Amino acid sequence: MSPLVGTGMRVRFGAATDRGRRPNNEDAYLARPPLFLVADGMGGHIGGERASRAVIDAFEPLASRAMVDMAAVRAAFGDAVAAVEALPGEGLAAAGATLTGACLSENDGRSYWLVLNVGDSRTYRLAAGELEQISVDHSVVQELMDAGRLTEAGAETDPRRHVITRAIGAGSSADADYWLIPADQGDRVLICSDGLSGEVAADRLRDALLAEPDPQAAATRLVHEALLHGGHDNITVIVVDALEVSGGEDAQTTPVATPVFTADPDDTVPTPHLRTATKEQP
Ligand code: MG
Repeated sequence: MSPLVGTGMRVRFGAATDRGRRPNNEDAYLARPPLFLVADGMGGHIGGERASRAVIDAFEPLASRAMVDMAAVRAAFGDAVAAVEALPGEGLAAAGATLTGACLSENDGRSYWLVLNVGDSRTYRLAAGELEQISVDHSVVQELMDAGRLTEAGAETDPRRHVITRAIGAGSSADADYWLIPADQGDRVLICSDGLSGEVAADRLRDALLAEPDPQAAATRLVHEALLHGGHDNITVIVVDALEVSGGEDAQTTPVATPVFTADPDDTVPTPHLRTATKEQP
């Protein structure tokens, strides 16, 4: 795809998706500046498809803007929740979706990645050869790791690794977590569903991103990597490169992402068994 100009940030991007070994693709995505979003549907194949599509559709009106701010993204998130909860039809009560991604934003003349997440799709940033996971999974294994009760290696094979604790819909009333990350020229952002991160280890993700300068080639290659590793789930990948940013030269880079807004766990209904049929792996 060709580079597109935002107000102060010029990006080049690519996207790819594949249903993997599943009968249909319940992932949905939007890759149009200033929005780069991936949603992974759940709740039976019709419910999952409708939910992820409803989430992405709620953000479409923002795709005509040069950039977005926190208020606009949070308002669209509210629209997404309402849209999923209003899904018509029988058997859709359990329909829901994850959502993660990076939006182009600006503050005081400085370009930012506005990252959001609910669920276990992921947003990473590759900078100076290092791949950092920005989003923090809302999953049972992440909670166990945070509590020191599970190692990262143990999490990769834990039978609960597909069980998420927050979603849009599916009986969850959860808000998203948000991060504002100063954008630097040369940053590469990876947004993906768990069909990629669940199949391909982080060092292989980094190697593939470093090996493919073109973002579309990188996205396509990562989908192929997931298929080669089993392709048990739907796979969706977006790769976004920051070609030019505003205010990047003298601004300080934040090496570690700190959430600017995290939903209060007391305000959310914990729903540790959100992910059912479509998420159970063979
Ligand atoms: Mg998935």
